[in-house]
Amino acid sequence: MAFDVSVITLYPEAFPGVLDVSILGRARRDGLWSLDTIDLREFGLGRHRQVDETPAGGGAGLVLRPDVAAAAIDSLGPSERPLIYLSPRGQPFDADMAATFARGPGMVCFCGRFEGLDERVIEHRDMIEVSIGDFILAGGEVAAQTIIEATVRLLPGVAGNQTSIEDESFSNGLLEYPQYTLPRVWEDHPTPDVLLSGDHQKIAEWRLNRSKLLTEARRIDLWAAYLNGQEIRASETDDEHD
Ligand code: SAH
Repeated sequence: MAFDVSVITLYPEAFPGVLDVSILGRARRDGLWSLDTIDLREFGLGRHRQVDETPAGGGAGLVLRPDVAAAAIDSLGPSERPLIYLSPRGQPFDADMAATFARGPGMVCFCGRFEGLDERVIEHRDMIEVSIGDFILAGGEVAAQTIIEATVRLLPGVAGNQTSIEDESFSNGLLEYPQYTLPRVWEDHPTPDVLLSGDHQKIAEWRLNRSKLLTEARRIDLWAAYLNGQEIRASETDDEHD
């Protein structure tokens, strides 16, 4: 069963964009996932197909109308797929959220523009607000492509090598260890000896250790969560022995 993605946007020409290259492009051509765009403009009102209005209460900019947004959403019919509004106010997107979406039947992404979307449609269409970071984009299209790419590459059969997904940053709560390849000496800088030793256990230990050092140095938030998780696991094993 394919993973079906729909995107509601004022700029359908922005899709598939980067989603059509490399492994995601191939997977789409192979039918592992599908992508369709819904042009929000088609649901606009009047001769000019107007989609926006000035904010109630005054202030700068324009707001997307709830009736127009709802007409576009409802045109998809009833669906089990999560309806995601890309929004800087949303829950921060991360690898766990991507994995949760990847286990589902697909996703519907609503891309905002201007000052965003009328609050009533967010509430009454049960939209899930998702943010890709603490900054403001001009619109939701790049954010939608980001969460689609991060999710679809987790689907079975999309990435050629499943172990490379299991190994990468965040999969065990840590940042990935440093990677090296040929040549063995580059501008007088050798590849660490242990990686050439052929001793798989030693290599695994070295990598885990480097992952920990990097995470502690760069991401104190992830490091604290990792240590916390280790403590919980340790106390659970203690309980089992009691
Ligand atoms: N006035 C809004 C920002 C609007 S930006 C505010 O201050 O919260 C216009 C659109 O771009 C938004 O509706 C949203 O769909 C998208 N967007 C901007 N930044 C984003 C982010 N960090 N994550 C996800 N979507 C974002």
